[in-house]
Amino acid sequence: MFTAILLDKNDDGATSARLAQLDERALPADGDVLVRADYSTINYKDGLAITGKAPVVRSWPMVPGIDGAGEVIASSHPDWKAGDEFILNGWGVGESYWGCLAQRARLKGGWLIARPPGMSARTAMAIGTAGYTAMLCVMALEEQGVAPDSGDILVTGASGGVGGIAVALLANRGYRVVASTGRLAEADYLASLGAAEVIDRAALSTPAKPLQKERWAGVVDSVGSHTLANAVAQTRYGGSVAACGLAQGMDFPASVAPFILRGVRLIGIDSVMAPPPKRVAAWARLAKELDADKLAAITREIGLAEALVQAPELLAGKVRGRLVVNVNA
Ligand code: NDP
Repeated sequence: MFTAILLDKNDDGATSARLAQLDERALPADGDVLVRADYSTINYKDGLAITGKAPVVRSWPMVPGIDGAGEVIASSHPDWKAGDEFILNGWGVGESYWGCLAQRARLKGGWLIARPPGMSARTAMAIGTAGYTAMLCVMALEEQGVAPDSGDILVTGASGGVGGIAVALLANRGYRVVASTGRLAEADYLASLGAAEVIDRAALSTPAKPLQKERWAGVVDSVGSHTLANAVAQTRYGGSVAACGLAQGMDFPASVAPFILRGVRLIGIDSVMAPPPKRVAAWARLAKELDADKLAAITREIGLAEALVQAPELLAGKVRGRLVVNVNA
């Protein structure tokens, strides 16, 4: 038996979340790797799944948890054997397939990547999909030629998970980072992560004029909607915007003017189905480049029961940084 968060849906369509004791035999049969998940995390999507606020869960009952790190217990997949240390991010796990907010999971070997040498399961999950996505954004900007001497980089949703890790990664690479937040009380925290300047997100969250004063060489946006539209309209000639999130909204009320008059590039970032070589590259860079003290400042550890309480708080924008879940606590 093992402990897990279990989500259910009743006949009226109402969803519920609770801690449950489950039998290993209940795990999905089509996985070829049985794992012990030591740590998981609460990402925005896990918040949506646990609260039922958006229909991210595709089958019921569901064990949420889009991220996991721990050790392989048994495997019939050629790449994995008992004792191997893994990281799991995405692939629909915790949405269509039982996930890692649980002490056990049965997963597909092709979804797992090896944990970088020396990285603990806890560190991997403090980073989680949020941090791995932040790195995908940094990599995307750099692939477009954005460099520390190109000019200021805007990071939106900076007090959140993706935003905080993006600020830390960019600052460590020598970029001048401008952090946008609705929580100006967190200005010292953002400065400690490396933000050179902190701005009020209110300046970006109302309807955007098509072209505005050129300001950003690059943008990491986890917010979407008007914020993304304003960020694009303020991006300098030839600059690039990595769009990964929708915390303000899924809409994109913008004009094509920045694209056709300034050659601005808008790059979509997806972590869920990203191919394995890209994941391995992102995690290798995270292992090398993410400052351990900054990650510690970003992270708070909770247990499975507390995860149920924190999920709505995260969606309400009240959680700073990252929540790492010790599934044995
Ligand atoms: P968090 O909840 O940790 O952070 C989101 C932040 O967005 C908040 O902390 C807040 O920052 C800001 N925010 C919240 N509501 C609003 C609003 N109404 N208007 C403007 N800003 C707002 O979530 P994550 O960092 O884990 O995820 C961020 C986004 O990225 C989510 O939309 C998530 O779905 C998406 N995502 C996408 C991935 C992909 O593969 N494309 C992977 C991972 C995440 P502040 O208080 O500083 O303003």
